Amino acid sequence: MFRIDLLPAEYGDAIWLEYGQRQRINRLLIDCGTAAVYPRIRERILALPEGQRHFELLLVTHVDLDHIGGALPLLRESASLGASFGEIWFNGYMHLSPGGVVPAAGDDTLGPLQGEELSDLIVANGRQRWNALVRGGALLVPDTGPLPQLSLPGGMRLTVLSPRQEQLDALRPVWDAACRKAGLVPGVAAADDGSRLEEADAEQEGDDLLGDPDPEQLAARPYKADRARPNGSSIALLAEYGGRRALLTGDAFAEVLLASLARLAGNAGGRFAVDACKLSHHGSRGNTSSELVRALQCRNWLVSSNGKQFRHPDAEAIARVLRDGGGDIRLHFNYRSEFNEMWSSTALQRRYRYAASYPDGAAAGVQLDLSRRTRR
Ligand SMILES: [Zn+2]
Repeated sequence: MFRIDLLPAEYGDAIWLEYGQRQRINRLLIDCGTAAVYPRIRERILALPEGQRHFELLLVTHVDLDHIGGALPLLRESASLGASFGEIWFNGYMHLSPGGVVPAAGDDTLGPLQGEELSDLIVANGRQRWNALVRGGALLVPDTGPLPQLSLPGGMRLTVLSPRQEQLDALRPVWDAACRKAGLVPGVAAADDGSRLEEADAEQEGDDLLGDPDPEQLAARPYKADRARPNGSSIALLAEYGGRRALLTGDAFAEVLLASLARLAGNAGGRFAVDACKLSHHGSRGNTSSELVRALQCRNWLVSSNGKQFRHPDAEAIARVLRDGGGDIRLHFNYRSEFNEMWSSTALQRRYRYAASYPDGAAAGVQLDLSRRTRR
């Protein structure tokens, strides 16, 4: 099995990934949504038999609240939950400077900026597990040479596709503000008040779609790349198991993903084949370019958002997937909302040869088992 479970994570991401054989299931957890999402994660962990609450990897893609919020209580309570992690991946403040590594035990150099709660909690869970793949260094795509890869127990292979040093450099001067917003500074409440609403593109907000949307017209709107620095610092992965591949993009920049995919493909040419792609940044229009969609051969496109705060997914992003994805596509939404229900139109589905699936209830999320054979 190779199962991707987009938990209902409010307007964020919480991806529960399982792979392996029936007798031996391995798990990864990628992001934990906002703090409000944590009880769902806790429930899922407690539903596992004791002694099986091990995750090969906990990945916190970047510092934004909708990815990190639930990771704080999880790490705080991991011992009492009986949960353990083989590796914990997160680029902390020390990783933003070239050559920065997790300080060794006894080396108490966590300065005021580095002492955010998540960093402290990871150290408390075992500093040797922190970015262990790169011996405590930063997880990033080097300018030259192969992309960093990790083979996990049970045969899962992960390849790092984002960020590059450029995105980490850009985050350094705004790290403190980003951490305060995400509630990573002890004693400072998280800014879960929609204060990032300024990200929304005002001029394109007034879409009152009467009848079906027009993917041609939407996809043709000018593409304006996301420049939000925390998003750019996202750790994005290609996950491969049993001949199946999934792109797990966090909130990464389309341009960074494209460049890494081109390096992976080498001289092969053509579209890079993956079985699933989680749309970056909850299907924001600035993170899914036509160029990125055209670079992929992908059947399953996943979107994680309830539409709150940032009205994700943007219609332009979905339209680009439909227009440029090559047909025979499945859209998987982990909530039904006023921002995605227009894609349930049967007329549109017939015309653009796609299917859209929605969860049965607000707490169902979406599950996709890539090891199941599906007709193309
Ligand atoms: Zn996000």
